[in-house]
Amino acid sequence: MGILNIDVLIVGGGLAGCCAAETIGSESNFSVLVADAGAMASTEIMGFSAPANPGDSEELFLRDILRAGGGGNDPELARILASHAMDELRHAEKLGIRFDRKADDSATYDMVNALGSSCPRVVHSGTTTGRELLAKLAISTVRMKIIHLLKIGARVAGAIAEDGTIIHAKAVILAGGGFAGLWKFSTWSKKLRGDALLLAMQAGAEVRDLGIVQFEPTVTVAPTALAGFPVITTVLNEGARLSDRNGKMLLPAGSPVPGKRQLAKIIQHAIDQNLEPVRYDLSNVPEGLFCKKYPEYHRKFLSFFGHWQKVCFEVKPGAHTTLGGIVIEPDASVRHVPGLFAAGECVGGIHGKDRLGGNAGLEVLVFGHLAGRSAIRYVAEHPFPPEEIPEVVDPAVPVAPSQYRIAAEILDQCCKVSGETCDLRRGLERCKELENHALRALLERIFSEKTSD
Ligand SMILES: Cc1cc2nc3c(=O)[nH]c(=O)nc-3n(C[C@H](O)[C@H](O)[C@H](O)COP(=O)(O)OP(=O)(O)OC[C@H]3O[C@@H](n4cnc5c(N)ncnc54)[C@H](O)[C@@H]3O)c2cc1C
Repeated sequence: MGILNIDVLIVGGGLAGCCAAETIGSESNFSVLVADAGAMASTEIMGFSAPANPGDSEELFLRDILRAGGGGNDPELARILASHAMDELRHAEKLGIRFDRKADDSATYDMVNALGSSCPRVVHSGTTTGRELLAKLAISTVRMKIIHLLKIGARVAGAIAEDGTIIHAKAVILAGGGFAGLWKFSTWSKKLRGDALLLAMQAGAEVRDLGIVQFEPTVTVAPTALAGFPVITTVLNEGARLSDRNGKMLLPAGSPVPGKRQLAKIIQHAIDQNLEPVRYDLSNVPEGLFCKKYPEYHRKFLSFFGHWQKVCFEVKPGAHTTLGGIVIEPDASVRHVPGLFAAGECVGGIHGKDRLGGNAGLEVLVFGHLAGRSAIRYVAEHPFPPEEIPEVVDPAVPVAPSQYRIAAEILDQCCKVSGETCDLRRGLERCKELENHALRALLERIFSEKTSD
């Protein structure tokens, strides 16, 4: 409680927020406060895209991003993402991250081949790149949930936290992550439900592409202790089997494994035909091979199931990542809202209709650093009007738990992987059940911008 006066407030202590804080700390004397609501997706990042191996290039990378985006990208944001990738890789190495190489002394990185990329391009340090980066950055964060923004005229001038603390800040960076936690069944923490978008929308920001949501095909339903955990799909090429309640294989033997989107639709179709539980059995995958590639998962599965022959999950598709979000300019400033910046998964437009695996991890680094640099410039060029008292922007967050429950039910029932037109229409109609106008506006955008296919 009380009043804090600082230069820059960062809402979000994931990698986007921490990268912004790193830049402000190293390139200015400005004071920073990083507010963190207590959960994040950045710890789950296995690796990020960088065209570092022979034969790959920034141009090829950009072409892949635009092709995957299907004409939906903001081309300038996509260009910035591709052109900063190698700098981010070098920076991470300078911080002390040792990315996997083909052999210990090899100059070539051991890349993960993400679906949709024309060559393997995801650098990684085992499966824990996100955690390692956060540890190396070592940014101190404060456990604090931001619930309103403050403004002086058109300019964002701080925020209010849930505990009543008033923060006067000369610039605010939103790095609050995505909104897949709004779904009841999702790979995300229920603490990641799009606060950054709600705050931005209430402050007058534009949002875009909210209907572009990626569903992970094989998310754990049971064992319940692992519910929401996404089980990797690459092992479908190594002998893992998907079957319905009658034991019928969902993927014909010998046929190529479809992309994640198609796979999610196949599983959802079986569930819609009342053929659940869908079982995802890994016991046929050679244990040695799995252990070599995914040592952390191997440890986790063995400690849970006790024996490799018992590693089998009940799965269904779950909301995973959100590609839409706040509209930003190429310098990460929020369009039409002075003093406000945004970075990371809360931003829209970079990836278009589909995001290449590894590009979320890159986006948080590139645009986090960029937002930090732009906030420094803004604060230096726009002194705070000393005697003006900031006013509370129309309250957006917190949303009552009952409202979140209604939203989760509507999304789970009406916004699924295949996006049937009738479901979307019903979902849009059901948004009227929400009394919280900010949350209702967010859901209405999700339903009206999701296309059926
Ligand atoms: C299971 C899983 C695996 C993934 N694997 C990969 C991968 O291998 N490669 C890849 O590229 N991407 C991956 N992604 C996607 C990637 O993790 C995210 O896109 C990325 O981490 C988002 O980072 P961020 O900093 O924008 O948000 P986050 O890391 O989610 O951080 C958001 C921050 O905002 C805070 N916050 C939210 N609301 C408030 C509030 N009101 N007040 C204060 N703070 C608030 C949160 O507490 C948190 O600190 C994965 C995602 C998941 C869920």
